Amino acid sequence: MSKKILITGAAGFLGSHLCDRFVSDGFEVIGMDNFITGRESNIEHLKDKPNFKFIEHDVTEFVKIEGELHYILHFASPASPIDYLKIPIQTLKVGSLGTHNLLGLAKAKNARILIASTSEVYGDPLVHPQTEAYYGNVNTIGPRGVYDEAKRFQESITMAYHRFHGLETRIARIFNTYGPRMRLNDGRVIPAFMGQALRGEDLTVFGDGLQTRSFCFVDDQVEGIYRLLFSDYSYPVNIGNPEEITILDFAKEIINLTHTNQKIIFKDLPDNDPLQRQPDISLAKKLLDWEPLTTRSEGMQITFDYFKGLPKERLYKKEHKDFSEHIKR
Ligand code: NAD
Ligand code: UDP
Repeated sequence: MSKKILITGAAGFLGSHLCDRFVSDGFEVIGMDNFITGRESNIEHLKDKPNFKFIEHDVTEFVKIEGELHYILHFASPASPIDYLKIPIQTLKVGSLGTHNLLGLAKAKNARILIASTSEVYGDPLVHPQTEAYYGNVNTIGPRGVYDEAKRFQESITMAYHRFHGLETRIARIFNTYGPRMRLNDGRVIPAFMGQALRGEDLTVFGDGLQTRSFCFVDDQVEGIYRLLFSDYSYPVNIGNPEEITILDFAKEIINLTHTNQKIIFKDLPDNDPLQRQPDISLAKKLLDWEPLTTRSEGMQITFDYFKGLPKERLYKKEHKDFSEHIKR
């Protein structure tokens, strides 16, 4: 009999790719989402699959699943800085109340749960590259605090369920990941630069552009998550690509890749924007025999082809979401 898995955040970027993977591996997949930052079109292609079912639901409310459940992947949460700045309370709630509900569900069903944590738990790191042993440097009351602290709480409550209830838990500390199905105007740097290049606009580099990031292609990320779920390790594991680049050099790479002649313009650096970010993935290599296989140029080409293939109106329509219908409290 096939195993049943619940994936929250299923209509989002990472969640939809995880649904693809588990559906194609023969799991019985239940996708759950309230569409606050996700889109139905990300999972449209799965609707006719006999082993995929979708439930529209806000996971900050009690989560009910009939029958057996073997695994949970908790990926619901806004993930882009402009999203979580616009919906700070929903971000705090999905990381805290939402995680609590899913841990309760895992306990009731005796299911294994993997939660999507983030490199943001390290804040603006004072240790470089970041290992799992680093405790982080987060401004609790800064604008990014709503995301960072929700994720830190998420890790703490997950470990508490593991230690106190003996629940089987896994914690993925995900570093910047990119690929097809990101929202073109979600504000994250890759869709931002690619959208600007496609519209013939200048590329907006924040600050002096000397801050660094390390970008992981989505297929590699999904493989890392998959292996972590089926490992027997309950502590956090970094999953990301250690190849680091400054945002300024990255903007130049995008100009080359897109064969555009855009100028680079400089804008203010957002508050608490981390200056350096690079995962130390020694633990994932050792435990999971995993490392990223896709080069940045391969992954960026696939992603650019995806954005280029979108209907033109999506390129020009401001895809900033209207969050009002979701903001009840
Ligand atoms: P995304 O915004 O594309 O997807 C998140 C999904 O969660 C959306 O479909 C959204 O509608 C859904 N959601 C949010 N709140 C919900 C709620 N209360 N109930 C039900 N559904 C809800 O973001 P993403 O990049 O796919 O990120 C997915 C997860 O991975 C997040 O938890 C994020 O923190 C984590 N993560 C992502 C990255 C990255 O680089 N993409 C890095 C670190 C961590
Ligand atoms: N950034 C930028 N121009 C943009 C969007 C982002 O220079 O139009 C910078 C941002 O300030 C940060 C980096 O790119 O230093 C990555 O930003 P992103 O929002 O993708 O993710 P973060 O890693 O900050 O969560």
